[in-house]
Amino acid sequence: MSVIGIDFGNESCYIAVARAGGIETIANDYSLRATPSCVAFSDRNRIMGVAAANQTVTNMKNTIVGFKRLLGRKFNDPYVQQEMQFLPYAVVPNQDGSLGIKVHYMNEEHVFTPEQITAMLFTKLKEIAESALKTKVNDCVISVPSFYTQAERKALLDAAHIAGLNVLRLFNETTSTALAYGIYKQDLPNAEEKPRNVVFVDCGHSSLQVFAAAFNKGKLKMLASASDASLGGRDFDRILAEHFSKEFVSKYKIDPRKNARAYLRLTTEVEKLKKQMSANSTKLPLNIECFMEDKDVHSGLQRSDMEGLCSGLIARVERTLRKCLADSKLSLDDIYAVEIVGGSTRIPSIKNLIEDIFKKHPSTTLNQDEAVARGCALQCAALSPAIRVREFSVTDIQNFPVVLKWDAAPGEEGGEMEIFSANHAVPFSKLLTFYRREPFSVQAFYSGQTPYPDPYIGRFTIKDVHPTPENESAKVKVKVRINLHGILTVAGATLTEKLTQAEIDAEANKEAMETDTNTEQPVNNVENGEEKEQTNEEEMDQQPAQEQSNQQNQQQQQNQQGSDKKEKKKKQLVKNVDLSIESETHGLSQLQLNSYYEFEGKMMANDKQEKERVDARNALEEYVYDLRGKLTDDSQLANYVTDQDREGLSSQLNDMENWLYEEGEDCQRQVYNDKLDQLKKLGEPIKNRKIEADIRPTVFEDLARSI
Ligand code: ATP
Ligand code: MG
Repeated sequence: MSVIGIDFGNESCYIAVARAGGIETIANDYSLRATPSCVAFSDRNRIMGVAAANQTVTNMKNTIVGFKRLLGRKFNDPYVQQEMQFLPYAVVPNQDGSLGIKVHYMNEEHVFTPEQITAMLFTKLKEIAESALKTKVNDCVISVPSFYTQAERKALLDAAHIAGLNVLRLFNETTSTALAYGIYKQDLPNAEEKPRNVVFVDCGHSSLQVFAAAFNKGKLKMLASASDASLGGRDFDRILAEHFSKEFVSKYKIDPRKNARAYLRLTTEVEKLKKQMSANSTKLPLNIECFMEDKDVHSGLQRSDMEGLCSGLIARVERTLRKCLADSKLSLDDIYAVEIVGGSTRIPSIKNLIEDIFKKHPSTTLNQDEAVARGCALQCAALSPAIRVREFSVTDIQNFPVVLKWDAAPGEEGGEMEIFSANHAVPFSKLLTFYRREPFSVQAFYSGQTPYPDPYIGRFTIKDVHPTPENESAKVKVKVRINLHGILTVAGATLTEKLTQAEIDAEANKEAMETDTNTEQPVNNVENGEEKEQTNEEEMDQQPAQEQSNQQNQQQQQNQQGSDKKEKKKKQLVKNVDLSIESETHGLSQLQLNSYYEFEGKMMANDKQEKERVDARNALEEYVYDLRGKLTDDSQLANYVTDQDREGLSSQLNDMENWLYEEGEDCQRQVYNDKLDQLKKLGEPIKNRKIEADIRPTVFEDLARSI
């Protein structure tokens, strides 16, 4: 059983595996480490990864890209509406308000959710890993942008489930990069020394993340992260495509923006040009033959032109860099290095800007493209019992403040409070105390600006609450948790009940035998992979508490322990009863998940069948060519067959070739296998005659030598 890390990028994915000897990045079926985040459909099968990207231009409407940005979103989300202008495929509203991707597949129209499309890509990644590692793969850690909200995180988990992957952790791309940096550094300051603070800049295809982390021997702590969720390499490409489109309108009277295929070709070409400009400051040509209306187009651009056109994007990069610097509360002198990762940090004006702001030349200690996947593999190894890795403690943070609102109780007002601040450490639980007579619910929201328009996180109903026997409000403790995936849950709720006289007597008896009786039961963690983490927990009053620094939190926890001791005497008279919780949050229903999982299985079986069919056809074709060539070759089979037999067989082979390109183009696998068997009955005896002849002299020689 292998453990893997997946960097799920908007443009491409990387897979890394943790082995006893270290971390390795896996190559795919085309011997490439990057697998395009691309899924395509045909009348016969699905096409994924490199093969899908290769057929984009000829099958544009059925080639799905950019879906990382659509996960968990609703059709009428302004972001989706804006994104749709650039997508060559059809995005349609589903009945429940979610969005669907409409494609032509197996001779009919299908509408898939972004979760399903993502699952298809994961199926492919799983296959790549399994064939490279020659073992089954289930456990994995998958990266997510740190700015992903509850809906997006849930959607990604759903996608992994549909693909049959067991996600030990959704790991922030930011933290993953920091882990990949820290774990093999031999020279980190000791635990009691001042930490080494490093700023990281990851600019990829569609987003920018800037983050700071503090490193000591054996541990890292994320300090802050700032992001621009819609700023990446593709925005540079779009500006360049717009520039050339305008130029072609006046120069050639053609407008690529009005022709989806031409626009797609143009963006592919400008991306190449952009990459060349990263290494060259001279003017570089852009030539596309037979571009539109049979016209060839010729133009060119130099780096300084691009910098002028894209100055607005660079200003946004600057804003994000400065925000992270401010949020981290680090001074420039506190910063040891600025590390760059992600494809778009290769753009010289971004590198220059980093140097201007941080007064440091950006470093490339990490593998710029593979760092995220490697960090995920390390995290997966740390969470999985299957493999041992160097101990390295990771304190992650979450991005947006979370507010909890609760219903009014009879005679009491409802209320709200911020329970997690921006950059609060996660995973983390907060215990809230309520006094209630009946079931009630709490709702969680993001406050402040998030890249996801709906601030709603979820609604959690605490059931079975009842008044005390004295008809007073009961004390209810609710544990609100942000888990390893960055998903908010109500992980437990308990009602404090006085013990009955019989229970008190029983307790007293037990007390006599044991020295320490604590009736408080720890809440069971049900989330995957959670057993291994430290229990970060904090108790809060229902009334809004003051924002507390970490130090104060520790102080409070110590005080808490003190008062726990004092309470001990009292506590023996009460017990905590677990209450059931009904959670409503984002994500697919179990029913939907099951049906998508089943359908994915059917599509996989179909793909496999189709592959076997194509392989059978190719095997027949190959046999025809091979045998025909050898029959006329003196050094091969020409001397082992009579002229008459050769002519007969050759003509049969020619017939077979013609058949393959006409009515035999599209048959069942068995038809090809049968034809191959027929040919082999004629071809193999000839081949065998040659093999016998080839070994005969050596047999004689060997014999002669032995005499
Ligand atoms: P994201 O992190 O946004 O989800 P991703 O991880 O797939 O996406 P990366 O692989 O980090 O993205 O980066 C891809 C982007 O980097 C593309 O837009 C590509 O054009 C750009 N890029 C790659 N090499 C260069 C280069 N030499 N110069 C400029 N841009 C480059
Ligand atoms: Mg990336």
